[in-house]
Amino acid sequence: MTPFDAAVYADRRRRAAAQAAAAGLDGILVTPGPDLRYFLGYTPAADTERLTMLAIPAAADGAGDPVAVVPRLEEHDMHLGAVGGIETLAWSDGEDEHAVAGRLLRPEGRYAVSDAAWALHVLGLQRALPASSYAAVTTVLPLLRAVKSPEEVARLAAAGAGADAVFDEIVPRPFTGRRERDVAADLDALLREHGHEQVDFTLVCAGEHGADPHHEPGDRVIRSGDMVVMDFGGLADGYGSDTTRTVHVGPLTDREQHVHDVVRAAQQAGVDAVRPSATCQDVDRAARAVIEDAGFGEHFVHRTGHGIGLTTHEPPYMVSGEETPVEAGMCFSVEPGIYLPGELGVRIEDIVVAFPSGVPGLADAPGAAMRLNTSPHEVVVVE
Ligand code: ZN
Ligand code: ZN
Ligand code: ZN
Repeated sequence: MTPFDAAVYADRRRRAAAQAAAAGLDGILVTPGPDLRYFLGYTPAADTERLTMLAIPAAADGAGDPVAVVPRLEEHDMHLGAVGGIETLAWSDGEDEHAVAGRLLRPEGRYAVSDAAWALHVLGLQRALPASSYAAVTTVLPLLRAVKSPEEVARLAAAGAGADAVFDEIVPRPFTGRRERDVAADLDALLREHGHEQVDFTLVCAGEHGADPHHEPGDRVIRSGDMVVMDFGGLADGYGSDTTRTVHVGPLTDREQHVHDVVRAAQQAGVDAVRPSATCQDVDRAARAVIEDAGFGEHFVHRTGHGIGLTTHEPPYMVSGEETPVEAGMCFSVEPGIYLPGELGVRIEDIVVAFPSGVPGLADAPGAAMRLNTSPHEVVVVE
Protein backbone atom coordinates (compact mmCIF):
# COMPACT_ATOMS: atom_id res chain seq x y z
CA MET A 1 0.00 0.00 0.00
CA THR A 2 1.05 3.57 -0.57
CA PRO A 3 2.57 4.76 2.72
CA PHE A 4 1.38 7.84 4.55
CA ASP A 5 3.82 10.49 5.79
CA ALA A 6 6.16 9.37 8.57
CA ALA A 7 4.51 11.88 10.92
CA VAL A 8 1.22 9.95 10.59
CA TYR A 9 2.79 6.76 11.98
CA ALA A 10 4.63 8.62 14.75
CA ASP A 11 1.38 10.29 15.76
CA ARG A 12 -0.43 6.93 15.85
CA ARG A 13 2.26 5.51 18.12
CA ARG A 14 1.96 8.51 20.47
CA ARG A 15 -1.83 8.18 20.67
CA ALA A 16 -1.52 4.45 21.30
CA ALA A 17 1.00 5.03 24.11
CA ALA A 18 -1.42 7.45 25.75
CA GLN A 19 -4.41 5.10 25.30
CA ALA A 20 -2.42 2.23 26.81
CA ALA A 21 -1.57 4.38 29.84
CA ALA A 22 -5.21 5.42 30.22
CA ALA A 23 -6.21 1.75 30.15
CA GLY A 24 -3.74 0.90 32.92
CA LEU A 25 -1.53 -1.17 30.61
CA ASP A 26 2.26 -1.15 30.49
CA GLY A 27 2.33 -1.12 26.74
CA ILE A 28 1.21 -2.57 23.43
CA LEU A 29 3.02 -5.40 21.66
CA VAL A 30 2.42 -5.18 17.93
CA THR A 31 3.08 -8.15 15.68
CA PRO A 32 2.97 -8.54 11.85
CA GLY A 33 -0.40 -7.86 10.26
CA PRO A 34 -2.74 -4.87 10.24
CA ASP A 35 -1.47 -3.50 13.58
CA LEU A 36 2.15 -3.42 12.39
CA ARG A 37 1.07 -1.78 9.14
CA TYR A 38 -0.87 0.77 11.16
CA PHE A 39 1.97 1.74 13.49
CA LEU A 40 5.03 1.22 11.29
CA GLY A 41 3.84 1.01 7.70
CA TYR A 42 5.81 -2.23 7.57
CA THR A 43 4.90 -5.76 6.53
CA PRO A 44 7.62 -8.43 6.70
CA ALA A 45 8.02 -10.51 3.54
CA ALA A 46 6.56 -13.44 5.49
CA ASP A 47 5.09 -13.75 8.98
CA THR A 48 7.15 -16.73 10.13
CA GLU A 49 7.93 -18.43 13.41
CA ARG A 50 10.73 -15.89 13.97
CA LEU A 51 9.59 -13.14 16.35
CA THR A 52 8.96 -9.66 14.94
CA MET A 53 7.34 -7.31 17.47
CA LEU A 54 7.03 -3.59 18.00
CA ALA A 55 6.85 -2.70 21.69
CA ILE A 56 5.06 0.59 22.37
CA PRO A 57 5.52 1.51 26.05
CA ALA A 58 2.56 3.16 27.73
CA ALA A 59 3.07 6.87 28.36
CA ALA A 60 0.39 9.26 29.52
CA ASP A 61 1.91 12.11 27.53
CA GLY A 62 2.40 9.92 24.47
CA ALA A 63 6.17 10.27 24.73
CA GLY A 64 8.04 7.01 24.83
CA ASP A 65 10.48 5.03 22.83
CA PRO A 66 8.91 2.25 20.81
CA VAL A 67 11.43 -0.42 19.87
CA ALA A 68 11.03 -3.14 17.26
CA VAL A 69 12.34 -6.60 18.04
CA VAL A 70 13.37 -8.11 14.72
CA PRO A 71 15.21 -11.18 13.43
CA ARG A 72 18.76 -10.11 12.57
CA LEU A 73 18.36 -11.32 8.97
CA GLU A 74 15.34 -9.01 8.50
CA GLU A 75 16.72 -5.97 10.31
CA HIS A 76 17.82 -4.38 7.05
CA ASP A 77 14.39 -4.97 5.45
CA MET A 78 12.67 -3.40 8.42
CA HIS A 79 14.83 -0.30 8.29
CA LEU A 80 14.02 0.02 4.59
CA GLY A 81 10.35 -0.82 5.01
CA ALA A 82 9.34 0.94 8.19
CA VAL A 83 8.05 4.42 7.45
CA GLY A 84 10.17 7.03 9.24
CA GLY A 85 12.52 4.50 10.76
CA ILE A 86 12.40 2.95 14.18
CA GLU A 87 14.85 1.83 16.82
CA THR A 88 15.44 -1.91 16.50
CA LEU A 89 16.63 -4.69 18.77
CA ALA A 90 17.83 -7.54 16.59
CA TRP A 91 18.15 -11.13 17.72
CA SER A 92 20.04 -13.93 15.99
CA ASP A 93 19.06 -17.52 15.32
CA GLY A 94 20.02 -19.61 18.31
CA GLU A 95 19.27 -16.81 20.78
CA ASP A 96 16.17 -16.96 22.98
CA GLU A 97 14.11 -14.31 21.17
CA HIS A 98 11.59 -14.10 23.99
CA ALA A 99 14.29 -13.41 26.55
CA VAL A 100 15.62 -10.70 24.19
CA ALA A 101 12.14 -9.17 23.82
CA GLY A 102 11.59 -9.49 27.56
CA ARG A 103 14.39 -6.97 28.16
CA LEU A 104 12.02 -4.31 26.80
CA LEU A 105 9.18 -5.27 29.14
CA ARG A 106 8.41 -4.81 32.81
CA PRO A 107 8.63 -8.21 34.51
CA GLU A 108 5.21 -7.80 36.19
CA GLY A 109 3.81 -5.78 33.29
CA ARG A 110 0.39 -6.14 31.69
CA TYR A 111 0.45 -5.78 27.93
CA ALA A 112 -2.01 -5.64 25.05
CA VAL A 113 -0.92 -7.95 22.22
CA SER A 114 -2.04 -7.92 18.57
CA ASP A 115 -4.95 -10.31 18.08
CA ALA A 116 -3.03 -12.23 15.43
CA ALA A 117 0.16 -12.70 17.51
CA TRP A 118 1.36 -16.27 17.38
CA ALA A 119 0.57 -18.28 20.51
CA LEU A 120 4.19 -19.45 20.23
CA HIS A 121 5.35 -15.92 21.02
CA VAL A 122 2.80 -14.94 23.65
CA LEU A 123 3.52 -18.17 25.52
CA GLY A 124 7.27 -17.58 25.02
CA LEU A 125 7.04 -14.12 26.59
CA GLN A 126 4.98 -15.54 29.42
CA ARG A 127 7.70 -18.12 30.05
CA ALA A 128 10.47 -15.49 29.90
CA LEU A 129 8.59 -13.20 32.32
CA PRO A 130 6.35 -15.44 34.42
CA ALA A 131 4.78 -12.52 36.33
CA SER A 132 3.78 -10.65 33.15
CA SER A 133 0.30 -10.86 31.63
CA TYR A 134 -1.21 -10.36 28.20
CA ALA A 135 -4.58 -9.49 26.69
CA ALA A 136 -5.80 -9.36 23.09
CA VAL A 137 -5.62 -5.77 21.91
CA THR A 138 -9.20 -5.64 20.61
CA THR A 139 -10.51 -6.70 24.03
CA VAL A 140 -8.61 -4.05 26.03
CA LEU A 141 -8.16 -1.29 23.42
CA PRO A 142 -10.95 -2.02 20.92
CA LEU A 143 -10.97 1.47 19.48
CA LEU A 144 -7.23 1.70 18.80
CA ARG A 145 -7.73 1.83 15.01
CA ALA A 146 -11.46 2.65 14.97
CA VAL A 147 -11.40 6.38 14.28
CA LYS A 148 -10.10 7.00 10.80
CA SER A 149 -8.20 10.08 9.68
CA PRO A 150 -9.50 11.94 6.61
CA GLU A 151 -6.73 10.30 4.56
CA GLU A 152 -7.85 6.85 5.69
CA VAL A 153 -11.50 7.62 4.92
CA ALA A 154 -10.44 8.70 1.44
CA ARG A 155 -8.77 5.28 0.94
CA LEU A 156 -11.92 3.51 2.19
CA ALA A 157 -14.04 5.63 -0.15
CA ALA A 158 -11.83 4.67 -3.09
CA ALA A 159 -12.10 0.98 -2.15
CA GLY A 160 -15.89 1.36 -1.90
CA ALA A 161 -16.05 3.04 -5.30
CA GLY A 162 -14.10 0.11 -6.72
CA ALA A 163 -16.58 -2.36 -5.24
CA ASP A 164 -19.50 -0.33 -6.63
CA ALA A 165 -17.91 -0.44 -10.08
CA VAL A 166 -17.74 -4.23 -9.71
CA PHE A 167 -21.50 -4.33 -9.06
CA ASP A 168 -22.15 -2.13 -12.11
CA GLU A 169 -20.18 -4.53 -14.27
CA ILE A 170 -21.59 -7.79 -12.91
CA VAL A 171 -25.31 -7.03 -13.27
CA PRO A 172 -25.43 -6.84 -17.08
CA ARG A 173 -23.77 -10.28 -17.32
CA PRO A 174 -25.90 -13.42 -17.61
CA PHE A 175 -26.86 -15.12 -14.33
CA THR A 176 -29.28 -17.80 -15.56
CA GLY A 177 -27.56 -21.14 -16.14
CA ARG A 178 -24.30 -20.18 -14.45
CA ARG A 179 -23.12 -21.65 -11.16
CA GLU A 180 -22.69 -19.55 -8.02
CA ARG A 181 -18.96 -20.21 -8.19
CA ASP A 182 -18.77 -18.83 -11.74
CA VAL A 183 -20.30 -15.51 -10.69
CA ALA A 184 -18.03 -15.50 -7.63
CA ALA A 185 -14.99 -15.94 -9.88
CA ASP A 186 -16.17 -12.96 -11.94
CA LEU A 187 -16.48 -10.87 -8.78
CA ASP A 188 -12.96 -11.85 -7.75
CA ALA A 189 -11.51 -10.85 -11.13
CA LEU A 190 -13.49 -7.60 -11.21
CA LEU A 191 -12.37 -6.60 -7.70
CA ARG A 192 -8.75 -7.04 -8.82
CA GLU A 193 -9.47 -5.00 -11.96
CA HIS A 194 -10.87 -2.28 -9.74
CA GLY A 195 -7.84 -1.68 -7.59
CA HIS A 196 -8.01 -4.53 -5.07
CA GLU A 197 -4.71 -6.25 -4.31
CA GLN A 198 -6.49 -8.71 -2.01
CA VAL A 199 -9.96 -10.29 -2.26
CA ASP A 200 -11.38 -11.38 1.11
CA PHE A 201 -14.75 -12.81 0.08
CA THR A 202 -17.06 -13.17 -2.92
CA LEU A 203 -20.28 -14.69 -1.61
CA VAL A 204 -22.89 -15.61 -4.20
CA CYS A 205 -25.96 -17.20 -2.63
CA ALA A 206 -28.74 -18.23 -4.99
CA GLY A 207 -32.35 -18.96 -4.05
CA GLU A 208 -32.59 -21.03 -0.86
CA HIS A 209 -28.82 -20.61 -0.29
CA GLY A 210 -29.51 -16.94 0.41
CA ALA A 211 -30.98 -18.01 3.76
CA ASP A 212 -27.44 -18.88 4.93
CA PRO A 213 -25.67 -15.54 5.55
CA HIS A 214 -22.21 -17.08 5.01
CA HIS A 215 -23.02 -19.65 2.34
CA GLU A 216 -19.93 -20.59 0.32
CA PRO A 217 -20.62 -20.31 -3.42
CA GLY A 218 -20.76 -23.74 -5.03
CA ASP A 219 -22.17 -25.69 -7.92
CA ARG A 220 -25.78 -24.54 -7.52
CA VAL A 221 -26.95 -23.34 -10.94
CA ILE A 222 -28.72 -19.99 -10.90
CA ARG A 223 -32.26 -20.16 -12.32
CA SER A 224 -34.97 -17.75 -13.31
CA GLY A 225 -36.89 -16.71 -10.19
CA ASP A 226 -33.85 -16.80 -7.85
CA MET A 227 -32.99 -14.08 -5.43
CA VAL A 228 -29.17 -13.86 -5.47
CA VAL A 229 -27.27 -12.31 -2.55
CA MET A 230 -23.83 -11.06 -3.56
CA ASP A 231 -21.45 -9.93 -0.77
CA PHE A 232 -17.93 -9.08 -1.80
CA GLY A 233 -14.89 -7.11 -0.74
CA GLY A 234 -11.19 -7.00 -0.08
CA LEU A 235 -8.34 -4.55 0.25
CA ALA A 236 -7.54 -1.76 -2.21
CA ASP A 237 -4.35 0.21 -1.47
CA GLY A 238 -4.41 -1.32 1.98
CA TYR A 239 -7.99 -0.38 2.93
CA GLY A 240 -11.14 -2.47 2.90
CA SER A 241 -14.28 -2.67 0.81
CA ASP A 242 -17.36 -4.72 1.75
CA THR A 243 -20.73 -4.38 0.07
CA THR A 244 -23.81 -6.53 -0.44
CA ARG A 245 -26.61 -6.29 -2.95
CA THR A 246 -29.43 -8.75 -3.55
CA VAL A 247 -30.53 -9.05 -7.17
CA HIS A 248 -33.33 -11.10 -8.70
CA VAL A 249 -33.38 -13.17 -11.87
CA GLY A 250 -36.45 -11.99 -13.76
CA PRO A 251 -39.60 -10.46 -12.25
CA LEU A 252 -40.11 -10.64 -8.47
CA THR A 253 -43.11 -12.02 -6.61
CA ASP A 254 -44.96 -9.62 -4.31
CA ARG A 255 -43.54 -11.44 -1.29
CA GLU A 256 -39.95 -11.10 -2.58
CA GLN A 257 -40.49 -7.42 -3.26
CA HIS A 258 -41.93 -6.98 0.23
CA VAL A 259 -38.99 -8.68 1.95
CA HIS A 260 -36.56 -6.58 -0.07
CA ASP A 261 -38.48 -3.39 0.77
CA VAL A 262 -38.29 -4.21 4.49
CA VAL A 263 -34.53 -4.79 4.37
CA ARG A 264 -34.03 -1.61 2.38
CA ALA A 265 -36.03 0.39 4.94
CA ALA A 266 -34.07 -1.25 7.78
CA GLN A 267 -30.77 -0.37 6.13
CA GLN A 268 -31.89 3.24 5.72
CA ALA A 269 -33.00 3.35 9.36
CA GLY A 270 -29.60 2.06 10.46
CA VAL A 271 -27.80 4.74 8.45
CA ASP A 272 -30.19 7.43 9.74
CA ALA A 273 -29.47 6.35 13.34
CA VAL A 274 -25.85 7.51 12.99
CA ARG A 275 -26.28 10.81 14.84
CA PRO A 276 -24.19 12.64 17.43
CA SER A 277 -24.77 11.01 20.84
CA ALA A 278 -25.74 7.69 19.17
CA THR A 279 -24.06 4.54 20.40
CA CYS A 280 -23.15 1.56 18.25
CA GLN A 281 -26.10 -0.44 19.58
CA ASP A 282 -28.48 2.35 18.53
CA VAL A 283 -27.58 1.61 14.90
CA ASP A 284 -28.41 -2.05 15.43
CA ARG A 285 -31.64 -1.25 17.26
CA ALA A 286 -32.87 1.11 14.56
CA ALA A 287 -32.35 -1.39 11.76
CA ARG A 288 -33.69 -4.30 13.80
CA ALA A 289 -36.85 -2.42 14.80
CA VAL A 290 -37.91 -2.08 11.17
CA ILE A 291 -37.47 -5.81 10.57
CA GLU A 292 -39.22 -6.75 13.83
CA ASP A 293 -42.14 -4.43 13.10
CA ALA A 294 -42.58 -6.19 9.76
CA GLY A 295 -42.75 -9.55 11.55
CA PHE A 296 -39.36 -10.88 10.42
CA GLY A 297 -37.41 -10.29 13.65
CA GLU A 298 -36.47 -13.94 14.19
CA HIS A 299 -35.05 -14.06 10.67
CA PHE A 300 -32.47 -11.28 11.18
CA VAL A 301 -29.83 -13.53 12.69
CA HIS A 302 -26.69 -11.38 12.91
CA ARG A 303 -25.43 -8.02 14.16
CA THR A 304 -26.10 -4.99 11.98
CA GLY A 305 -22.50 -4.05 11.25
CA HIS A 306 -18.77 -4.06 11.88
CA GLY A 307 -15.91 -1.63 11.56
CA ILE A 308 -13.64 -1.63 8.54
CA GLY A 309 -10.19 -0.23 7.87
CA LEU A 310 -6.92 -2.09 7.32
CA THR A 311 -9.05 -5.22 7.64
CA THR A 312 -12.56 -5.91 6.33
CA HIS A 313 -13.92 -6.82 9.81
CA GLU A 314 -12.78 -5.02 12.98
CA PRO A 315 -14.18 -3.05 15.94
CA PRO A 316 -16.46 -1.26 16.52
CA TYR A 317 -19.41 -3.66 16.16
CA MET A 318 -22.97 -2.47 15.66
CA VAL A 319 -24.52 -4.95 18.03
CA SER A 320 -26.87 -5.02 21.01
CA GLY A 321 -24.94 -4.26 24.20
CA GLU A 322 -22.24 -2.19 22.48
CA GLU A 323 -22.52 1.16 24.22
CA THR A 324 -19.49 2.76 22.58
CA PRO A 325 -20.48 6.19 21.25
CA VAL A 326 -20.27 6.64 17.51
CA GLU A 327 -17.40 9.08 16.88
CA ALA A 328 -16.55 11.22 13.88
CA GLY A 329 -14.35 9.22 11.53
CA MET A 330 -15.57 5.78 12.53
CA CYS A 331 -16.18 3.67 9.41
CA PHE A 332 -18.46 0.64 9.58
CA SER A 333 -20.96 -1.45 7.68
CA VAL A 334 -24.75 -1.21 7.97
CA GLU A 335 -25.98 -4.57 6.69
CA PRO A 336 -29.31 -5.85 7.92
CA GLY A 337 -30.80 -8.95 6.31
CA ILE A 338 -33.76 -11.31 6.38
CA TYR A 339 -33.12 -15.04 6.01
CA LEU A 340 -36.06 -17.34 5.29
CA PRO A 341 -34.90 -20.98 5.58
CA GLY A 342 -35.49 -23.07 2.48
CA GLU A 343 -36.68 -20.04 0.58
CA LEU A 344 -34.45 -16.99 0.17
CA GLY A 345 -32.32 -14.32 1.77
CA VAL A 346 -32.00 -10.58 1.31
CA ARG A 347 -29.16 -8.41 2.62
CA ILE A 348 -28.16 -4.85 1.74
CA GLU A 349 -24.78 -3.57 2.94
CA ASP A 350 -23.05 -0.23 2.66
CA ILE A 351 -19.96 1.08 4.38
CA VAL A 352 -20.59 4.43 6.02
CA VAL A 353 -18.39 7.04 7.69
CA ALA A 354 -19.72 8.92 10.69
CA PHE A 355 -19.73 12.73 10.55
CA PRO A 356 -17.00 13.15 7.93
CA SER A 357 -15.18 16.43 7.60
CA GLY A 358 -12.16 17.39 5.57
CA VAL A 359 -12.04 14.13 3.63
CA PRO A 360 -10.49 14.69 0.20
CA GLY A 361 -13.19 14.13 -2.45
CA LEU A 362 -16.04 13.69 0.05
CA ALA A 363 -18.62 16.29 1.12
CA ASP A 364 -18.68 17.15 4.83
CA ALA A 365 -21.64 15.64 6.69
CA PRO A 366 -21.56 16.95 10.25
CA GLY A 367 -24.01 15.04 12.39
CA ALA A 368 -24.80 12.33 9.86
CA ALA A 369 -23.41 9.25 8.17
CA MET A 370 -22.11 9.39 4.62
CA ARG A 371 -22.32 6.24 2.53
CA LEU A 372 -19.11 5.07 0.85
CA ASN A 373 -21.17 2.70 -1.35
CA THR A 374 -23.69 4.15 -3.77
CA SER A 375 -24.89 1.15 -5.79
CA PRO A 376 -28.70 1.25 -6.19
CA HIS A 377 -30.74 0.18 -3.18
CA GLU A 378 -33.80 -0.85 -5.15
CA VAL A 379 -33.66 -4.47 -6.24
CA VAL A 380 -31.86 -4.88 -9.57
CA VAL A 381 -33.38 -7.41 -11.97
CA VAL A 382 -30.80 -9.52 -13.81
CA GLU A 383 -31.12 -12.11 -16.56
ZN1 ZN B 1 -37.97 -15.27 -7.12
ZN1 ZN C 1 -20.22 -8.02 3.43
ZN1 ZN D 1 -19.79 -6.69 6.18
